[in-house]
Amino acid sequence: MENETISVKKPIVACDGGGAAGHPRVFLDMEDQGEIVCPYCSQRFVLDKKSR
Ligand SMILES: [Zn+2]
Repeated sequence: MENETISVKKPIVACDGGGAAGHPRVFLDMEDQGEIVCPYCSQRFVLDKKSR
């Protein structure tokens, strides 16, 4: 579960670690990378380009 990739439609995502075991909400900016890993919880987010 922890390494599950989340697809998002915007290059800036908010991550709070996902509930009780989470962390303070942070905003992560993919910029041109198309993906980013949260430095707090190692959750990976990828930009869903197909939905553009
Ligand atoms: Zn996180």
